[in-house]
Amino acid sequence: MRTPIPTSLYIHIPWCIKKCPYCDFNSHEINGSLPEENYINALIEDFKHDISLFKPRLIDTIFIGGGTPSLFKGESYAKLFAELQKLVTFSDDIEITLEANPATVELIYLAEYCKLGINRLSLGVQSFNDNLLKKIGRIHSSSEALAAIKAAKNAGFTNINIDLMYGIPEQTLQDGIKDIEIALNLPITHLSWYQFTIEKNTYFSKYPPVSMPEDIAENLEKLAFKLLKNANFKRYEISAFARENALAKHNMNYWTFGDYFGIGAGAHGKLTDPNTKKIFRTQKTRLPKSYLNQEAPKLIETKILSSQDLIFEYMLNATRLEGEIPFSLFKERTFLDIALLNKALVKAVKKNLLKLTTNGFIVTDLGRRFTNNLQMEFLT
Ligand code: SF4
Repeated sequence: MRTPIPTSLYIHIPWCIKKCPYCDFNSHEINGSLPEENYINALIEDFKHDISLFKPRLIDTIFIGGGTPSLFKGESYAKLFAELQKLVTFSDDIEITLEANPATVELIYLAEYCKLGINRLSLGVQSFNDNLLKKIGRIHSSSEALAAIKAAKNAGFTNINIDLMYGIPEQTLQDGIKDIEIALNLPITHLSWYQFTIEKNTYFSKYPPVSMPEDIAENLEKLAFKLLKNANFKRYEISAFARENALAKHNMNYWTFGDYFGIGAGAHGKLTDPNTKKIFRTQKTRLPKSYLNQEAPKLIETKILSSQDLIFEYMLNATRLEGEIPFSLFKERTFLDIALLNKALVKAVKKNLLKLTTNGFIVTDLGRRFTNNLQMEFLT
């Protein structure tokens, strides 16, 4: 059944071959053999439980993220999809994305994924410079990344995203531009280009490398935005650039405050009860070992979002987007009156962080530069 709020499904695969020193995701180095079959069974149980609480819905997009989902075989996802479709309907034009590490991309797996209906591949390339890849602890090389993109294309993927980072320790402005130029000559439809940051509880937070100076990063951004624009990659979110008709539908659903189930170790979800109009956050147990324990609950928290939570979370997402955000979306997604936003909107407009339009608002250049400050205006 289609609910008034579009619904996605996020599936988390929590293992990687090696933990990268900058990574704060819920990813764990493989220790021994991968419990692939047990994990797929756990995901099925997890989803069954979510459905018993939040009712079946039409699923518009699926994102299999990690960790490294490309460690799992096509047949595992075939079993998972078959079981999921006993519980929910996949929409006819569903977008199904799988994240892959260029070092683990096997041509044979790619063809299997494609055959299953996985129609978007997201490759964590990060850079095409081997020295910089080593600096950030990546296990793949530039040539492996190029080979993975070629293999994805040959396997039948027409919708390919790559993730690239800038501001990597010791990266120069020229290195950053070269990465973009290489990317623009590849058969990709989408680029996630985001700044290297040092996150808490990572190896780099204990032993911080020297990051790119802010003025060089700003110059690099200006030059890269120009190159991307000239190549018809439209910036539609802080870090997302897409060719025409290649916006990431799954991420757009997050940023427009749609609903999503989250299954897998540490996954969280956001789900609306259309009858009571209550909006819930769900959180799954984080450690793979606990998640695989059949005796222990996987869902460890279900929280009803307050009006304050909704205002902040909605604006946290919406202000990431470029272009006009209609006022009507706020009411549609939160069931709250737009008047509740007025005070903070007026303040943000006065500070030139937002601009009002007839039907909504747009983040200004200043607001984009200081998106965190803009978002904080809506924290009450
Ligand atoms: S491959 Fe990705 S998810 Fe895995 S440790 Fe590295 S950055 Fe994290």
